[in-house]
Amino acid sequence: MPPRIPLWMWLVIPAVFLLFQTLAGSVNVLALPYSDFKKLVHAGKVIEATVGEQTISGTLTASGLGQVIPKDRLDSIKCAGDKPCRFSTVRVADPNLVEELEDAGVRYVGQPASTWVSTLLSWLLPFAVLLWMMSAMAQRSGMGSGFLLDIGKSRARVYVASKTGVTFKDVAGIDEAKEELMEVVAFLKDPERYRRLGGRIPKGVLIVGAPGTGKTLLAKAVAGEAGVPFFSISGSEFVEMFVGVGAARVRDLFVQAQDKAPCIIFIDELDALGRARGVAGIAGGGYSEHEQTLNQLLVEMDGFDTNKGVIILAATNRPEILDPALLRPGRFDRHVALDRPDLKGREKILAVHARDVKLARTVDLAAIAARTAGFAGADLANLINEAALLAGRLGKDQVDMGDVDEAIDRIVAGLKKTTRVMNKLEKETVAWHEAGHALVAEFRRHADRVAKISIIPRGIAALGYTQQQPTEDRYLLKKAELLDRLDVLLGGRVAEEIAFGDVSTGATNDLQQASDLARHMVTQYGMSERIGLGTFEAPPPAYLAYPPAGPGQRGAYSESTARAIDAEIAALLNQAHLRVRETLSARHELLDALARMLLAQETVERGALDALIARHQAQVHLMKGAAP
Ligand code: ADP
Ligand code: ZN
Repeated sequence: MPPRIPLWMWLVIPAVFLLFQTLAGSVNVLALPYSDFKKLVHAGKVIEATVGEQTISGTLTASGLGQVIPKDRLDSIKCAGDKPCRFSTVRVADPNLVEELEDAGVRYVGQPASTWVSTLLSWLLPFAVLLWMMSAMAQRSGMGSGFLLDIGKSRARVYVASKTGVTFKDVAGIDEAKEELMEVVAFLKDPERYRRLGGRIPKGVLIVGAPGTGKTLLAKAVAGEAGVPFFSISGSEFVEMFVGVGAARVRDLFVQAQDKAPCIIFIDELDALGRARGVAGIAGGGYSEHEQTLNQLLVEMDGFDTNKGVIILAATNRPEILDPALLRPGRFDRHVALDRPDLKGREKILAVHARDVKLARTVDLAAIAARTAGFAGADLANLINEAALLAGRLGKDQVDMGDVDEAIDRIVAGLKKTTRVMNKLEKETVAWHEAGHALVAEFRRHADRVAKISIIPRGIAALGYTQQQPTEDRYLLKKAELLDRLDVLLGGRVAEEIAFGDVSTGATNDLQQASDLARHMVTQYGMSERIGLGTFEAPPPAYLAYPPAGPGQRGAYSESTARAIDAEIAALLNQAHLRVRETLSARHELLDALARMLLAQETVERGALDALIARHQAQVHLMKGAAP
């Protein structure tokens, strides 16, 4: 494919070229006819001359020129005042020239015939300037510095870096994610080892996480660790252009990548491209364009052979809107989740970024980490940089704690809307709330096991979360299991009641879910003895992947039944409330201990939870044993 130079460039190139020639040749140089030149030589007005093969140039004395040659040939701008002025003339055959110059006492030098070097230079220089301009523009429009690499190669504005310069050393605080991606690195480093065994290497890994949690960084680190080229493109770039271009870009991207295998293709903002088909609300022709592009991506992903060593990493912060087709086996079937870092993680990330900054000894990274709950990796990097800038502005030669404090304040004030930095009381509320969920789950036979508790704010809605891990996929649920589920949902609210004697708005979502569940039990599952086996609500249509919350379609029933249903729902919730109060009140100390642990560490993993519970139960035994 020839270099793709836009149409307007064809106008600009000659223009710039001409400009160069003119600039180089004629600024402040008086162009003379040869006859005038000779006259000036004889009149002794030429001070020195450079005699070239085709031209002669040199300097004239400033005064009295008008007496030698007609005044109108003298350009008043180029040759005015009393400064010597430059001239040039085109040479004619004149065998006696040298003699005449000698006689007139002109200092003269010869000029070598223009060499190929100078000719080449006079051609190349304008082009170099042009290219430089183009690449500067390209960078401004976000193509990155890889532009020169692939000019003329592809319509896909792919950014290729043969070395990302980033390794796992630069990524901190997300060790689990790193471990998951180690395998990808190992494969890229030595594909043969895996091929021999006939193992199937993942084609696509989806990295999910809030903005700034290091998705791009991690992808680059994988390429850096493996020492392979890194192709990167953003999902939004695929769809911004005209019809057909997006799909062509996808095709080009894969062709190029397979050429350079082993390598990594990184698609940022996959959600912009991979929005579920048929749900995308893009106006006009954009819709089908988006669909075509996505289809092409699916086709390419299916078509290429992993054994060549091309692995696709993609990043998104909205996995829920991705087209399910993208997540099927053989496509992005591996998922790596990046959370906002916890206390320890933040300290490690700060350490990574503090490497290049001169810190005073008083700067305590652990203390900074403690003050920056809710910061993502990018915010922390920004924090260190901001502190360094502040110190620089004040002319210090080290960054001290004062600068860091100031930087935190600035960033927090600036971020308030996106990052949640909670005050102490809010944090405590969240800690007890989550501890409540977790403990109820631990002490209910049918509840899913708690995998991890966290009070790091996540996304827009959740201030903290308790992650439960089902031991297996379930298709049928017994009433006892649903009741336990109700209890776990209420655990957060009840813990707040017990610990603070007051409640917060933090339980809204839990209560909504609990009400829905209780309603379904009564009206759809026939689990209420008083209401009986009738169903009173149609379940939401099964083809909806995300059924709307709230009551389903109301069936036909009398007002008195409606009242009975409401009473049953309330009863279910009230009974659950009582049960949970009992469970948590009986373990008040354990609840407090877990909440404090959360406040100190922000996340509590399965193992730590087990240990804590075991310790408390041992204590309870001791106390019982000690009592007579
Ligand atoms: P994302 O792609 O998730 O929006 P990036 O990977 O672009 O986030 O992160 C932006 C910057 O934040 C990185 O270049 C890095 O300086 C910093 N950063 C983010 N996460 C980490 C981390 N875990 N360790 C070190 N630095 C990080
Ligand atoms: Zn809750």
